[in-house]
Amino acid sequence: MPQTFSVPRLLINRLRNVMAGDMEADTRLQKVVTLIAGTMVADVCSIYKRTDSDELELVATEGLSVSAVHQTRLGLSEGLVGQIALSGEPLSIQDAPRHRAFSYRPETGEDPYHAFLGVPILRGGRVIGVLTVQNRTERIYEEDEIDSLQTIAMVLAEVVAAEAPTAGPGAAQREARPVNLRGRILCDGLGLGAAKLHDPVVSPARYFTEDPEAEARRLRNALTTLRESLDRMLASDVSAIFGEPREVLEAFKMLAGDPVWAKRLEETVKSGLSAEAAVDRSRREHKIKLENANDPYLRERLHDLEDLDNRLLRILSGGDGSASNGDDGDTDVQEVLIARRLGPAELLEYRNSGLAAIVLEEVAPTSHTAIVARAMGIPTIGGVGALGSVVAPGDQLIVDGEEGTLHIRPDEGLLDAYESRRILRTERQAAFQALREQPSRTRDGTEISLMLNAGLGIDLESMAQTGADGIGLFRTEFQFLVSDTLPRIDSQIELYRRVLDFAGERPVHFRTLDLGGDKLLPHANADDEENPALGWRSIRFALDRPGLFRRQLRALVRAADGGPLSVMFPMVTIAEEFFEAKALLMDEIEWGRARGHPAPSELRVGAMLEAPAFAYGLSEVAGEVDFVSIGTNDLLQFFNAADRMMPTVSERYDVVSRPVMRFLDFIKKECDRLGITVSICGEVASRPVEALCLIGLGFHTLSMPAAGIGPVKRMLRSMDLQSFVEPFREAIYSSNGAFRNEVLAITELQGIVVSDN
Ligand code: PEP
Ligand code: MG
Repeated sequence: MPQTFSVPRLLINRLRNVMAGDMEADTRLQKVVTLIAGTMVADVCSIYKRTDSDELELVATEGLSVSAVHQTRLGLSEGLVGQIALSGEPLSIQDAPRHRAFSYRPETGEDPYHAFLGVPILRGGRVIGVLTVQNRTERIYEEDEIDSLQTIAMVLAEVVAAEAPTAGPGAAQREARPVNLRGRILCDGLGLGAAKLHDPVVSPARYFTEDPEAEARRLRNALTTLRESLDRMLASDVSAIFGEPREVLEAFKMLAGDPVWAKRLEETVKSGLSAEAAVDRSRREHKIKLENANDPYLRERLHDLEDLDNRLLRILSGGDGSASNGDDGDTDVQEVLIARRLGPAELLEYRNSGLAAIVLEEVAPTSHTAIVARAMGIPTIGGVGALGSVVAPGDQLIVDGEEGTLHIRPDEGLLDAYESRRILRTERQAAFQALREQPSRTRDGTEISLMLNAGLGIDLESMAQTGADGIGLFRTEFQFLVSDTLPRIDSQIELYRRVLDFAGERPVHFRTLDLGGDKLLPHANADDEENPALGWRSIRFALDRPGLFRRQLRALVRAADGGPLSVMFPMVTIAEEFFEAKALLMDEIEWGRARGHPAPSELRVGAMLEAPAFAYGLSEVAGEVDFVSIGTNDLLQFFNAADRMMPTVSERYDVVSRPVMRFLDFIKKECDRLGITVSICGEVASRPVEALCLIGLGFHTLSMPAAGIGPVKRMLRSMDLQSFVEPFREAIYSSNGAFRNEVLAITELQGIVVSDN
């Protein structure tokens, strides 16, 4: 943690006057550098601004040649200034010209200066410039001076950002032009609305205080409000929604009570800065550390701290501290949330805000946020890169979560096209809702069971809305992924009970912990793996962590409380894994029984077929396994050797292809031969054409994300299974023609409705 810092009161007072004066941004910057040089007894003080083309342009200087202003430009990694911009860290050098990174620019006349100190100017977690001081003689700058310069850089950030765009003629116009950016689809859908920034921006007007004592009181009150709001959240019904990361809130509460944090903030305020400025400074520090931290555990901690800073800032600016600031979405203005990085807890706070869409600059590797966004049904795209310089609050945005595109300030034509697409989509959703009460049956009378893939509390609402027949896949690891510490057995029991209670008579298949691969625990110190999808994950991980695994099995047995229980193990590759896992489950049932806890009235133990090898090992588990569920997401990535997490390859191979159909056909026949009940879960089951093929192969239980249930039900209600199967099977085993086209030709001929929406 950085030491305490203090900026001389005199400098703060003078800076305040310059900031309050009515003048052009570049005049203001010039006054600031003169002021800093004078107060810090520096021979030079300069400001470099990062341009749109990622260069660092000298925009104000005291001490260097005035003619170099707006002329001298450095590359992002060029010279000492470039180093600071790249690292986001201060740099202090006794004799700069002898430093290996020093880049000499004759036009600046900087030959005689030896000592150098530079700090980044940060805004929204991004380096937007660099502030430097230089002295003729060699010297080492004190910690205090470095801290002071950092605080000044923070105050300057908004002024530098407001300085005229420096990317040459036309830059200003370019800012307002429509811009399209590509991203990664995290939750399908379309959203249209005004940009709303997640991170509150502190206005420069609120950087100073005339009365540090009163300001310190304000800060203390805000801290109290923050702690109380966390207490309330912990006690409220909201935290009872399972999946709501209770452990995260508890960790926040602990951090919010940290006296060191509070003391540092108070000391800053006492130097003459406002409470907002003190918190903003703390936030910037955490952000930049987060940027540079590689250790996943440290990153999560820093993210928590940053989140706390944000909450405190919102309280100081008059909100209730929650990310949504109490916004209940009652306004008519649709908003698109823009965030650099958003934790699942923060996102959950927006669930009643009526957001039209979400855009994230950074996709967390574990994508918990994506999981939550999907559960909330908000169109979300991520990985679109730095948005701070292209999007301003209120800008109109179209988030196309079908194509993975963000349209910033779209033109009228695009707006019209999207608006009609969105309306059409909404109408279709309503039509799907109306199908809810209709039987899920083909025209010729075959019942198809449509189940839900779930994992969070909000998914249960989807079960009610879609009329799913049950939960075909309950991803128990979500509860682990959204919390910062391992969920206690009590919270696991509570979660499973709520799911069972909600489902009532409808079946629920709990999939045991499927961790590893892309689903890394924030609290597990996982070693980096070259190929995590092929690594220490799923049942392999669980069997190697029997303590953790048994605790979960115990929680499942206790939650069933003498009623029926269905459990399945993920990614079984060889029969022994299944037997070992099942034996642990049976041990737990015995263990519970010996202590007076009833055994499940009906126990069903299944295995997920996700590793192709297991397709050839089914005979070894026949008689022991009650059902097999095919996890197509994983199975197909292994079958096609295409990473499901990599957009560049994940969609490369069509599921509706002869090889995939022949493989699934083999599995189905193998299960039939061995008397094993088999179903499908995974994303493909949610697409009508894919679902049609699966049904054609004889899979009559499909589990899928909520959004797929309507379109798939509409499709199957329009099909005559008997008539479809014959030409379909013929197409699978013939050897010519594009297979998907052949399937589509059959649907056309037979009037099967296969559109997605
Ligand atoms: C699958 O792999 O198809 C599956 C359902 O599991 P997950 O997507 O959770 O890996
Ligand atoms: Mg899987």
